[in-house]
Amino acid sequence: MTIRTAVITGASSGIGAATARQLAAAGFRVVLTARRADRVEALAAELTGAGHQALARALDVTDRAAVDAFAAELVQQGPVHVLINNAGGALGADPVATADPADWRAMYEVNVVGVLNVTQALLPALTDSGDGTVLVLSSTAGLGTYEGGGGYVAAKHGAHVIAETLRLELCGTPVRVIEIAPGMVRTEEFARTRFRGDAEKAAAVYRGVAEPLLAEDVADTITWAVTRPPHVNVDLLVVRPRAQASNYKVHREG
Ligand code: NAP
Repeated sequence: MTIRTAVITGASSGIGAATARQLAAAGFRVVLTARRADRVEALAAELTGAGHQALARALDVTDRAAVDAFAAELVQQGPVHVLINNAGGALGADPVATADPADWRAMYEVNVVGVLNVTQALLPALTDSGDGTVLVLSSTAGLGTYEGGGGYVAAKHGAHVIAETLRLELCGTPVRVIEIAPGMVRTEEFARTRFRGDAEKAAAVYRGVAEPLLAEDVADTITWAVTRPPHVNVDLLVVRPRAQASNYKVHREG
């Protein structure tokens, strides 16, 4: 049997890196992409050293020409079976009244247009594989809003709509579309990026939450979903820590 290839965007940290590790362990050849080449190269070397097949490429998902060149190179190497659209994130937590439109634009670019770019570029290869999967890592912010969520919530709703629309449009082709929507996940960089390096504000997001989800928990969910038999489509899976019952209701100790 030929080895299946999975492309992961945003594989330089957090959920993307954990997913790369788990998909490699599940037997996939993994293609790791992110803007920080050194990070994805180091992870690919680690995985290759452990006997897996892994390739790293620097890629900014908002740069369409670069995405097209990446897809063209990859297709030369053989079929592509799985695309994990994970690259994304939040910038700021300002109310709608005062948020910076530049932050909104940047979030739309990476969380929505980035998903569109990579999905469009790889869709022919995913279809040609005869059994393709497009996975969109959205968020519970893609399903409901909260104060201060504005720009991120709007962008993740956009990612959710891509998954919903694409699933309708691809019905009848050999490509399934999976959306995984996590709630609170404590990763090293997500909140730090959102609050522009302010460690105190970043730590406050998880304060008192005994067990938020970790990157490995989401990677486990992603790996489960993409390793179901081809006729099984996990349309939308919401995964939160037990201590979080909604975007609003989080149990904090102390
Ligand atoms: P993270 O560690 O900050 O990961 C974000 C990843 O996206 C990084 O690898 C980053 O790599 C990459 N990235 C950002 N902009 C990019 C661009 N223009 N082109 C290519 N790659 C880019 O955060 P995370 O928590 O693992 O988040 C991963 C995904 O899960 C995001 O889509 C996030 O919105 C979503 N999510 C997170 C949570 C949470 O609570 N943490 C909850 C729900 C959903 P480079 O900087 O090297 O490019």
